[in-house]
Amino acid sequence: MSDASRVLLLLGGNLGDPPRMLDAAQRMITERVGAVLGRSRDHWTEPWGFADERLFLNRALLVETVFDPPALLRSLLAIEQELGRERNMAQRYAARTIDIDILLIGDRVINSDRLQVPHPRMHERAFALSPAADMVPLWVHPILHRTVLDLLNDLRERR
Ligand code: ADP
Ligand code: MG
Repeated sequence: MSDASRVLLLLGGNLGDPPRMLDAAQRMITERVGAVLGRSRDHWTEPWGFADERLFLNRALLVETVFDPPALLRSLLAIEQELGRERNMAQRYAARTIDIDILLIGDRVINSDRLQVPHPRMHERAFALSPAADMVPLWVHPILHRTVLDLLNDLRERR
């Protein structure tokens, strides 16, 4: 346990009933991880890295937790598993009921085998940055030193 930290999470899923899955995940996060201080709108987005007809639903959550980062990750992976996600080893990016990613933890930088924070691909992904920008546009990425909104604008300019 440590002092409370503010964490930006990204929920996503494209199987079953995505709005219901995201609500269930949010409830479990509130019960087990910490208070949800805010949430983004829900964004329907194209699958990324693979072809699938079903759109993804993404939602960002701002959570306050006393868990340290490894405990936070364990707890989120347990929630994913309980919500019925089947991990497909052969195919990294695949249809899934629920994915929970840690995008940011305060201004911390973590590079362990199991956990990288900021999430190493968040700045390349509009489906992560758009919901994040709904809620915390001015949060500064501690490695790139750009705000979430800047990163989203950068992405749009590069297209
Ligand atoms: P992705 O989220 O990139 O589609 P997965 O959800 O299958 O891929 O990846 C899960 C693994 O990624 C977890 O077991 C976890 O150890 C690792 N991981 C590393 N950094 C993070 C992070 N910031 N948030 C969530 N998982 C992470
Ligand atoms: Mg994940």
